[in-house]
Amino acid sequence: MTESLPVLCRGLPRRPLLGLALLTALAPHVRAADPLSAMLDPAARVETLYDEGEWCEGPVWVPALGGLVFSDVRRNRMMLIREDGRAEVFREPSNNANGNTLDAEGRLITCEHRTSRVVRRETDGAITVLAERYDGGRLNSPNDAVVARDGAIWFTDPTYGIDQAEEGIPRPSEQKGRFVFRRAPDGSLTVATGRFVQPNGLAFSPDERILYVSESGTREGVAGQIRAFDVSDGQLSNERVFATVSKGVPDGLKVDTGGRVYAGTGDGVRIWSADGRLVGHIPTEGPCANIAFGGPDGRRLFLCAGKRVLAVETKVRGATIRT
Ligand code: MG
Repeated sequence: MTESLPVLCRGLPRRPLLGLALLTALAPHVRAADPLSAMLDPAARVETLYDEGEWCEGPVWVPALGGLVFSDVRRNRMMLIREDGRAEVFREPSNNANGNTLDAEGRLITCEHRTSRVVRRETDGAITVLAERYDGGRLNSPNDAVVARDGAIWFTDPTYGIDQAEEGIPRPSEQKGRFVFRRAPDGSLTVATGRFVQPNGLAFSPDERILYVSESGTREGVAGQIRAFDVSDGQLSNERVFATVSKGVPDGLKVDTGGRVYAGTGDGVRIWSADGRLVGHIPTEGPCANIAFGGPDGRRLFLCAGKRVLAVETKVRGATIRT
């Protein structure tokens, strides 16, 4: 495994992509209306930062690196877009990395499809394996992760990376289900829930008393659901449907400081108030897989949508932004 920092990426344009005039001019307006206007300026525009990916995923703002890291899952590499708009290869090969997040120390936590691992990048660049096996078998293909204040890492383990050759390495599952796991600070794994066809994105409410999880499986009766759970002492209870999307499936989730829930869906980002009312839609051309708040002030919302990484300025901050 190699990392290429801070060398500019091979084969990518060396000119800044941030604010590229033509792409910006073609970007759609955000559809904003009350109460969405409380967090998005109605005149806000979606800006294209990068459009040379294959399947962009797992955005995370990394203050220590001065930019946005994201995964180009199917191209088997991770990229970094710096504040000045330069895009460079960050890790290649990435083991078909997908979701990324930060821990309390700002270290990058990454879900890898190809190796069925969750890994942490140490401050010296070394990789530490945090989770790889459960109950005697390899994990499926960890998809997305979030770190709680107590240091536990919660992550989803659907089978996309072992079902599809372009997403990893096809092989039979060695697990009895597609679980949401909790990795305790001592390294032990427990199944938080096994009630998903394909668990995908996940995010905590600002007080971490609720965990939201996307169901990206398409079985009748569960398709399109974002489910909510109460969280107490590292365990989940009171499962309920928080919202349902009709355009594609929900993928990555984020929550802002006001408790609003943001989901990447089949045609953009959908936003719900904490009580489950749909308050907005930021359309994208094709599916939006994942999202992240970031930027120097934590108020930029980054969108990974197919081959593109987009950004829009907001009036709010992500609930779990680390600066
Ligand atoms: Mg995902």
